[in-house]
Amino acid sequence: MSPSNAQWAQAGSSVWMGGAKRPELCFTDGSGSRLRDADGREYLDFVGGWAVCALGHSPAAVARALAGQASTLLHCSPGYWNPPAIALAQKLSSLSGFGRVFLGCTGAEANECAIKLARKRGAATGAWKIVATLDGFHGRTLATMSATGKPAWQGLFGPKVPGFVHVPPNDIGALEAAMDKDVCAVMFEPVQGEGGVVPFSAEYAAKARELCDKHGALLVFDEVQTGMGRCGSWFAFQGLGVRPDILTLGKGLGAGYPLSACLTDAAFDGFEPGDQGGTFTYHPLGAAVGLAVIQEMERLDLVARSQSAGLALRARLEALAPEFGLRDVRGSGLLQAFDLPDPTGQELVAAALREGLLLNSPRPASIRLMPPLVVTDGDLEEFEQKLERALEALQKNV
Ligand SMILES: *Cc1c(COP(=O)(O)O)cnc(C)c1O
Repeated sequence: MSPSNAQWAQAGSSVWMGGAKRPELCFTDGSGSRLRDADGREYLDFVGGWAVCALGHSPAAVARALAGQASTLLHCSPGYWNPPAIALAQKLSSLSGFGRVFLGCTGAEANECAIKLARKRGAATGAWKIVATLDGFHGRTLATMSATGKPAWQGLFGPKVPGFVHVPPNDIGALEAAMDKDVCAVMFEPVQGEGGVVPFSAEYAAKARELCDKHGALLVFDEVQTGMGRCGSWFAFQGLGVRPDILTLGKGLGAGYPLSACLTDAAFDGFEPGDQGGTFTYHPLGAAVGLAVIQEMERLDLVARSQSAGLALRARLEALAPEFGLRDVRGSGLLQAFDLPDPTGQELVAAALREGLLLNSPRPASIRLMPPLVVTDGDLEEFEQKLERALEALQKNV
């Protein structure tokens, strides 16, 4: 007999490093929008590997790319050129309009690259401060934790990397007041993901663009979560109508394989030999996956699908809203959220789990939805039924 969820959970908790609180749930396999646990139960996955599994679980296109590249050239060191990493950089460049591309493994690594590019350019004039936003999220390295505006992280692992200033999202006056000659960059997510799906207005983004130009600072968009079709366009900046100077990608780029990118214009690529690198940067295997993911997204027209499925999802949420007092249905494409009338997000996550639906509650009263971009109409219907039953169960308990 293979081990149960409970047995895996016990084994894992005695050997994985401390950290996340996890339900007693161990996933063994999955396909499309579905995952199966060690007890053989199936779940409809609206967490999507945390906005990662754009092509669903265990997509054949990625499996083929992995097998093909692994048996051709697995790794050779970024000290040499390799074809897939050049091809992926060219592809990302043509999709985004940015001429220079760095390839890494994690979102935090891509953001470190962005921070270093901004500091490098700022060094010429002595500018070193980066204005980021309260409740923004940029990763878990020390510099990206310092850029992150989560109040709960304020006292952690001090001293922080200095130079990060946090302003409230969508507050133009606060951004204006934070700008001075010491600022080398303004950095935010077009839609705050971990912050609970908080979109930035086009007006704010345009003002940020203007202020950066006025003060000679770079505008950095962290699109690790919002990029790669998640919000209904290849990149959320296209929806906002404001072009940043630096763009970072991760999550959906590898659709489940660790892959990230930092993009900029040739004019802002100030790196000199030795400034930036990493053993697994420009990795041929990851790059082959990234190329396969983009090709599959183009073949299946998943950017358009993200938009249409997002509208269908929103309509279903709005249909449930009056009965259960759901508020502020928001987001775009397949990054959506809504608020509950009470801070019962974790209770709803648990109730949905009992219905066989995976949900995420990024804030006490908020539920975030980030299903695979290949989510079907049938999946959306099943989602609504399961969510309705979970909401009913929650109402009975409260
Ligand atoms: C997930 C995320 C990151 C961090 O990515 P990792 O791959 O976990 O390092 C950074 N920024 C945003 C907006 C994210 O959603």
